[in-house]
Amino acid sequence: MVVILGAGLAGLSAAHHLDDRDVVVVERESEVGGLCRSLRHDGFTFDYTGHLLHLRDPSIRDWVLELLPDGYRHLDRSAWIHSCGTLTPYPFQANTAGLPLEVRLDCLLGFVEAMTRSDGGERPIPPAEALVDGLPFLAVSPPPADGEPSFLDWILRTFGEGFARHFFVPYNEKLWRRPLSEVTGDWVSWSIPRPELADVLRGAITRSDKVFGYNPQFLYPREGGIDHLPRSVARGLDEGVVRTGCEAVELDAGRRTVTLADGETLSGEHVLASLPLTALARMTTDLPDALRRAAGELDHVSIRAVNLGVRGAPVHDTAQWVYFPEPSFPYHRIGLPTALTPSMAPEGHHSLVAEIAFRPDDDPGADASLEQTVDGLVRSGFLRDTGDVVVSRVVDIPLAYVVFDRRRREVLPDLMRWYVDQGVVPMGRYGTWDYLAMEDSLRHGREAARWIAGAAG
Ligand SMILES: Cc1cc2nc3c(=O)[nH]c(=O)nc-3n(C[C@H](O)[C@H](O)[C@H](O)COP(=O)(O)OP(=O)(O)OC[C@H]3O[C@@H](n4cnc5c(N)ncnc54)[C@H](O)[C@@H]3O)c2cc1C
Repeated sequence: MVVILGAGLAGLSAAHHLDDRDVVVVERESEVGGLCRSLRHDGFTFDYTGHLLHLRDPSIRDWVLELLPDGYRHLDRSAWIHSCGTLTPYPFQANTAGLPLEVRLDCLLGFVEAMTRSDGGERPIPPAEALVDGLPFLAVSPPPADGEPSFLDWILRTFGEGFARHFFVPYNEKLWRRPLSEVTGDWVSWSIPRPELADVLRGAITRSDKVFGYNPQFLYPREGGIDHLPRSVARGLDEGVVRTGCEAVELDAGRRTVTLADGETLSGEHVLASLPLTALARMTTDLPDALRRAAGELDHVSIRAVNLGVRGAPVHDTAQWVYFPEPSFPYHRIGLPTALTPSMAPEGHHSLVAEIAFRPDDDPGADASLEQTVDGLVRSGFLRDTGDVVVSRVVDIPLAYVVFDRRRREVLPDLMRWYVDQGVVPMGRYGTWDYLAMEDSLRHGREAARWIAGAAG
């Protein structure tokens, strides 16, 4: 038997791809989906903040489309940045035309200076290296060498001081809740578009229609709620494969025995673990102490989603999400779910979701977050009147973003190799302690299933 911990996308995908084997998926919550669940309240649908499907792998794309035939809207991105009291299109670095002249000049001068600065023997950021044969998703960059650029260094070298000051540093400090010199440079530089000088210059003079970045088009379920995706995977599984409301509390990795909260034990030839690696380490009875201590040093950031159901049409015609770099707003991003599909709100209404990042020791509290959010939305013009709010739901995602720091790269290789040596494969966004999209979690499940098929000969 294969025991799968967690019925998020990684766990469900693994079960789907292991369909000719004896499989059980153990899920703590009362429904499948993990982070891809949706809340429904008085006709409004709220995801755990915006969940948009960017599918780059053609085989995953075909599978996802097959799961919900004609069930997706194919959307073009409409993303914006709110800065200096105005809205400018994403990405900031190619669209400063609407900003004050001093800001534009600052950004342009900094960009040109960064381009012309000599590299002087600076070290490159090493790419992630695979840790285990046959499991390509278990990969991490080697521990940082002296002189390796931090995320802050990377921003300054790539975009210069002006862009750093007016967007990248304040935005990312709001998200990461720490100085960016503590974040390592291997953090997602792939997802941040770097335009050519000509694009930066053109964007400072006039509006351009040129498209940048990894996500200009995406899919979203037509009926509203990203939970349609995990539910469609679960529907294809045999009855009884997924056991919801069933929490794993202990793992004997060497024996691959999982103990559930009600005392039942399950044993498998393999265990696939998509729950957070930190939680897995805490519940593993035979994990060596040094690895347990090391796992305790992995750091993360929480997200509070302030969801509002609002009377009337949205203020902006197209915006799907908007970044807020300025510290005077408590959130770093807001989403406008009815721009994805009108079915996210009842007739004559729309919804807004603000994302506030916090660390356990700087939690502003749910009531303060709600009050500050409503105030910020009125100040920025996204909410016409506080009296238009008909529903508010504040939802916390305690583990939302894993922190890319030195310890992450020191701790992960030994920890993950130890688990795989026991026949336990960490997978998914939090199992591998990575920054991953839904597509990656689906891919992890598939690759873990293939690895098991290979291991079984
Ligand atoms: C704020 C935010 C916005 C995002 N936006 C996007 C986006 O726009 N596009 C995109 O592609 N991706 C997005 N993502 C990423 C996406 O949500 C994840 O990649 C994906 O949902 C992770 O799936 P998973 O199966 O790896 O993990 P999870 O969804 O975390 O699944 C793990 C499962 O394990 C269960 N579990 C935990 N502990 C136990 C236990 N002890 N016993 C049994 N079960 C347990 C959990 O309940 C959960 O169901 C976003 C993530 C965040 C945080």
